Amino acid sequence: MNEFALPTAKTKLLAVIGDPVRHSLSPVMFNSAFRALGMDWLYVALPVKLGSSRAAIDGIRALDIVGLSVTTPHKEMVAAVVDQLSPVARKLGAVNCVRRSGEVLIGENTDGKGFVESVRSGLGVEPERSNVVVVGAGGAARAVTLALAEAGATIAVVNRTKDKAEKIVGQMAMENVSTTGFESISDADLVVQATSLGMRNDDPLPFDPNLIGKGQTLVDLIYHPERTPIAAAAAAHGAQIANGVGMLLHQAGEQFRIWTGEEPPLNVMAAAVGLKFAQNTGE
Ligand code: NAP
Repeated sequence: MNEFALPTAKTKLLAVIGDPVRHSLSPVMFNSAFRALGMDWLYVALPVKLGSSRAAIDGIRALDIVGLSVTTPHKEMVAAVVDQLSPVARKLGAVNCVRRSGEVLIGENTDGKGFVESVRSGLGVEPERSNVVVVGAGGAARAVTLALAEAGATIAVVNRTKDKAEKIVGQMAMENVSTTGFESISDADLVVQATSLGMRNDDPLPFDPNLIGKGQTLVDLIYHPERTPIAAAAAAHGAQIANGVGMLLHQAGEQFRIWTGEEPPLNVMAAAVGLKFAQNTGE
């Protein structure tokens, strides 16, 4: 055990706010990283109800909490009450990470960057050479679409509710982002499954698995279960697949960099929460 096994009067405090948040893997992930690097930092989960985002941010200021992760349902409200926003957080209108610069609280969003890092390093995908279909039009789809578009990918967003896909395209206002029909999945190099379908046993498939096969990559942002039915079907058709563990880890790693200025020990963080990349090569 190192000398920082217990918090001290000098311990720097960080937190995640959300509701629900008691299931969060972030405390174990970050605290393992701090311990591995011998840093006297501590990360805790704080349940904060919908409607209390502003009060929570005031608390962060008053308590000298040095960094904050933000999850559902506060990402949009926190974007409205911090002092400054990074360009990505401003464009998304959503914050998943807050850092302090003196008295100033700055909202960041690391979800999209985490996704792009995970596909580059884990799957050998080069966004700048890729035709991508993003399935879904919620917060995760928006973050991934913006990061991929900024990295030079050509992206079509498809969603059950077409209006929401059109809204994302309008918000991005980039030449390389459009919306089409689900059939465009068959022409994609990379398909990102960004709906919530696949978490429950009785969920329908998010799209027809016959649209995907050899020579294509599917990343399902879900990581619980480790392999969703659509990912299993895509693998059976010869596609390269991966789950959302890579994005989860890399977005946390980016938060770690933002707060500490240190490189995150990603292997330690992954091992600490027992997460497995459900991945195959499509061979
Ligand atoms: P969200 O904002 O609630 O969006 C949900 C999306 O799922 C929408 O596109 C919605 O379509 C679609 N959907 C829900 N039920 C559907 C159904 N019955 N049929 C067709 N489409 C349906 O959620 P989110 O925050 O974007 O998260 C989406 C997924 O990404 C979740 O599974 C989450 O766990 C995962 N995620 C993973 C990470 C990671 O680090 N790996 C990070 C963030 C999120 P409509 O617009 O038509 O309702």
